[in-house]
Amino acid sequence: MNNIELKRFWEKVKEEFVGSLPESTHPWLYSLEVSGFDKGILTVVTGQTIARDWLKKHHIGQMNSILKNLSGIDEACVHIIFDENAAKQIKKESEKIKKKEAEAQLKEQAFENLSFMQSSANLNLKYKFENFVVGENNKFAHDAALAVAKNPSGKYNPLFIYGNAGLGKTHLMQAIGHYTIFNNPKLTVKYTRTDDYINDFISNSRKTNNSVENMSKFNKKYTNIDIILLDDIQFIESKEKTMARLHQTFDTLKDKGKQIVITSDRVPEEIPMLTEALISRFKSGLMVELTPPNFETRLEIVRKLAKDNDIKAEEEALKYIATHFSKNVRELEGAFTKVCAYAEFNSEPITLNLVKQLLKCKENQDNLTFDKITEVTASYYKVDVSDIKSAARSQKVSTARQMSVYLCRELTNQSFENIGDFFNKKHSTALYAYEQIKNRLNTEKELSNAIREIKQALKVL
Ligand code: ADP
Ligand code: MG
Repeated sequence: MNNIELKRFWEKVKEEFVGSLPESTHPWLYSLEVSGFDKGILTVVTGQTIARDWLKKHHIGQMNSILKNLSGIDEACVHIIFDENAAKQIKKESEKIKKKEAEAQLKEQAFENLSFMQSSANLNLKYKFENFVVGENNKFAHDAALAVAKNPSGKYNPLFIYGNAGLGKTHLMQAIGHYTIFNNPKLTVKYTRTDDYINDFISNSRKTNNSVENMSKFNKKYTNIDIILLDDIQFIESKEKTMARLHQTFDTLKDKGKQIVITSDRVPEEIPMLTEALISRFKSGLMVELTPPNFETRLEIVRKLAKDNDIKAEEEALKYIATHFSKNVRELEGAFTKVCAYAEFNSEPITLNLVKQLLKCKENQDNLTFDKITEVTASYYKVDVSDIKSAARSQKVSTARQMSVYLCRELTNQSFENIGDFFNKKHSTALYAYEQIKNRLNTEKELSNAIREIKQALKVL
């Protein structure tokens, strides 16, 4: 029996003693502390001689038989010792243990509450900030979401996150919910998909014939909360009533000073039939965009997946996946999961060969050459490929050159050495050109447009 088991056993024995012996003995029983249980002998210590003497004289037989019953040992007996200091010491220790146990229980309770809150807020446990890989493509959106999580109903209300499917909108939005529940448990959070919201509204209207009382119940459900996370607003119906209801929900939340977070696969203006009033409300806070991650971030995401799932894979295999799934993190994850499942079922290690064979990426990027990229970029900027490869320094040519370098790196993941060679430049010049575009992308919207159009022409978007 270890110390904790001994204390637990003793608690049980003591409880039986207290239950079976007359009330007048209880003060003596409470003074007993257990010191050991060995070969059927239960040694207990008291700091009061009278306790030892009285119990020994009048009750030891009964105590022994209780112990026999509980321990299942025939010759078990209780040995009572007087030792003031030992009794004090034991008492101190057992209080420490009790305190620790109480703390552990509290922690467990808190954890249970947290899980309950998370599930009632309708959140996926994976979608936390800790699991979100931050890259250039999502840093702004990530920082905005974190700022909202740290200070809801502050400067950024509503927060509107938009971007194509599979880029992490739902993940970021739910991360706000998890963060709040963990750090600010007094606040209530509700995550709802827009189609669920609509269905709820419709079924509620049908059931209740729009009675005022029931409508107000519906309203309360979506407004008696501190943070609402409304996912995929592009699915909003253009029906007048739904629109009016959403309008009202939004205004009530805003008036009450509640935080609203919305996601969409496009900007509000592009959501058909969304009323002007709602468009302007959605745009009144902060709008942030998620774009596809670059190669480094994609690689980081698959590395993290491998690490979190305790999966060993060749670095080249991970790079291959990161190279070929560039537009959508969900697909990137899907490819990784497929490889892992195959490797597990067949007890094979994850190698580059396996990944190639399994994913059979015939993606366009495989066939992308520096020539092709430069040719399309040159034609976008209306310059000649020969100018790009020359030392010409006009503004137009130099942007086209930097852009070609940037895209060669992003789309083929070749070394700057190779890229430099192709453009008749040094490795450091290629690196510099790449960095230039990377930095300018933060502020110059037309550069992102250029990248999008060139990628479309290369059929990689
Ligand atoms: P969306 O809502 O934009 O369609 P999701 O949030 O559902 O995309 O993301 C798709 C998948 O990709 C999810 O499993 C999510 O966890 C993962 N994901 C997206 N972005 C990241 C990221 N930056 N780091 C880690 N995982 C990500
Ligand atoms: Mg989503």
